[in-house]
Amino acid sequence: MRTTERGFTLYYYDAGGIDKIVYFFTENRGIIAGVAKGAKKSKNRFGGNLEPLNEVEIILYEKENSELPIIERVNIISNNFSLFNNLDSFNYLLTIADILIKLTPHNIAQGNLYRLLKAIIEGLKDGMEGEKVFSYFLIWFLRMEGMLPEFEVCSVCGKYRGEFEEFYISSDGSKVFCNNCKTGDSILIPSSFFVFEKLTKTLSPQQCANIEFKNQGEIKKFLIKLLHIYNGEEIKSLKAVQNL
Ligand SMILES: [Zn+2]
Repeated sequence: MRTTERGFTLYYYDAGGIDKIVYFFTENRGIIAGVAKGAKKSKNRFGGNLEPLNEVEIILYEKENSELPIIERVNIISNNFSLFNNLDSFNYLLTIADILIKLTPHNIAQGNLYRLLKAIIEGLKDGMEGEKVFSYFLIWFLRMEGMLPEFEVCSVCGKYRGEFEEFYISSDGSKVFCNNCKTGDSILIPSSFFVFEKLTKTLSPQQCANIEFKNQGEIKKFLIKLLHIYNGEEIKSLKAVQNL
């Protein structure tokens, strides 16, 4: 059966022989993988069309009972090659691709995540800073997965956080504590995080681009910590962007 999908190329790796396995994030089926036959040959029919993070149309051939569909053709709808002129943006985007491939179910539509990825790529093309885009992605990813607690209220006594007050998150990421209720292994939430958390609830990446957030690096590191807590183990690719 031949099908056509629309989406973003995420990543490819070399399969045995002369083939590549390519991952896409598609509008209708979420993450899918396919085999690009002969793509490792210097002259092949895919050319540069398998490079990551372009918006593409994918023509697939799916055999019943076979594991991965065959990628017959990939046509670029909108090319994002310009994003790769900035090495930081490039690394952040590849890390986002890696998180999507590893932490989300495959072969199932995920409309909200798809729109998030699209918005982020648009933000980067408009010149938004890579670190901010990455934090925007992480916070929305965690929010959509239902992993974020309410940050402004103590989970134990119900007290609202006052301005300049220190609040903590439990080591399993599920509860938020005030200074009176915190436990020994609670983690201090950086004060810069509260503004970011509040504003990203309603603003698009482009709207956030014009806001100067204090301690952007600290916000990013805290979000990486949360993702590791929820994932139960470290994600290797996050190390590459931790200290950018
Ligand atoms: Zn409390």
